[in-house]
Amino acid sequence: MKTRVVVLGAGFGGLELTTILSDAFGDAIDIVLIDKGEAFVFGFSKLDVMFGRQLPTAVRHPYRDIAKPGVRFLQSTVRSIDPAARRVVTDAGTFEADLLVVALGADIDPAATPGLVEGGNEFYTVPGALVLRDVLPRFERGPAIIGVTGKSFKCPPAPSEAAFLLHDYLTTRGRREATDIAVVMPFGTPIPPSPDTSQAILAAFAERGIRFVKDSLVKALDPGRKVAVLSDGTEMPYALFLGVPVHRVPAVVVESGLAADAYGWVPVNKKTLETSFPGVFAVGDVNGVGTPKAGVFAEGAARVVAAAIIAQLRGGPSPEAYKGAGSCYVEFGHDQVGRVDVDFLSGPKPTGTFQEPSEALVAEKAEFGSSRLQRWFGQPPPSFG
Ligand SMILES: Cc1cc2nc3c(=O)[nH]c(=O)nc-3n(C[C@H](O)[C@H](O)[C@H](O)COP(=O)(O)OP(=O)(O)OC[C@H]3O[C@@H](n4cnc5c(N)ncnc54)[C@H](O)[C@@H]3O)c2cc1C
Repeated sequence: MKTRVVVLGAGFGGLELTTILSDAFGDAIDIVLIDKGEAFVFGFSKLDVMFGRQLPTAVRHPYRDIAKPGVRFLQSTVRSIDPAARRVVTDAGTFEADLLVVALGADIDPAATPGLVEGGNEFYTVPGALVLRDVLPRFERGPAIIGVTGKSFKCPPAPSEAAFLLHDYLTTRGRREATDIAVVMPFGTPIPPSPDTSQAILAAFAERGIRFVKDSLVKALDPGRKVAVLSDGTEMPYALFLGVPVHRVPAVVVESGLAADAYGWVPVNKKTLETSFPGVFAVGDVNGVGTPKAGVFAEGAARVVAAAIIAQLRGGPSPEAYKGAGSCYVEFGHDQVGRVDVDFLSGPKPTGTFQEPSEALVAEKAEFGSSRLQRWFGQPPPSFG
């Protein structure tokens, strides 16, 4: 009998894990990879779509292209998870697993912020980015706010990146003089683990006249008066609001008992990423291991779980513990990208080192994307820019 591994979610975590196991075992393993979507989209591609840098069709990487030995991709919605029995119910049937990996990511909940759906925009989903592609060309004057609405959110550099790209976009259109840009963030600095990165971002904000509002969340929008209400009650007028919506644990994960509530990310063993249920792992944004919600960390977690599964099935020694380290690229605008290498779990406190923005890092970021596509989908991506 082949070992059956059921992987829920074909994002950064699920794709990386599936690829490693297929490479290691080929047809000798039975992997079922389940996702409700029909295509993978990088998080950073949403910025490309909203600013018209990429066509929506160019950033979608269809799962039907996955052709890996031992792997079956199933497009279906996961309706319930029984972690004790390692049983999953989907719209396409029920699956029993020897090993179950939950990689369902973080859901976003724009409706959790009063006024956001009616009076603002979000750029954290593909539909949100598509709407903005049509909204941004009509933005002529007044204050723009890039506002974070919840403490835990994907890709902490993304709000700063959106501000830099908005600055460039408005400058190109000749509308920058008529507009203001502010970023509202729940941290004291843009990237707390890396003072150098934060300093570089704040210096670039100052150079471009972008205001950084620290230690604040946007709690509500009043669309009638066109004001954003911050956590301390301050009101900020806006003509354009680009929101980072509240993130929550997917409901199916909460209902399974793996997470205590919508904001209690799945507890795992920090070294192995195993949940309290034997043979059930949680990788990526869905877990509460303490690393930022970013693809590189989901990928790192997937590698640790894959190594544990390989060791278990082959009888080798236990793999190294999860280190919570990864490199994030940061768009600075002006066609430049910086890089921050962060390490969350090796030392007593998180650390981060910064590489100055450069054109070379633009190429490195493109290579980061294309190498993942090649590895996960087994073919060079013709349209990846
Ligand atoms: C604007 C933006 C920019 C970003 N930039 C970067 C960056 O530069 N670098 C970086 O590393 N990260 C970046 N990220 C973050 C990155 O996209 C996520 O952290 C990463 O995708 C998390 O991987 P994951 O595998 O945990 O979850 P995901 O990639 O979100 O995958 C989860 C999958 O589960 C599926 N799913 C959910 N519920 C169900 C269900 N009930 N049934 C079936 N399928 C389901 C979803 O369809 C999804 O495909 C960015 C994010 C955003 C929004």
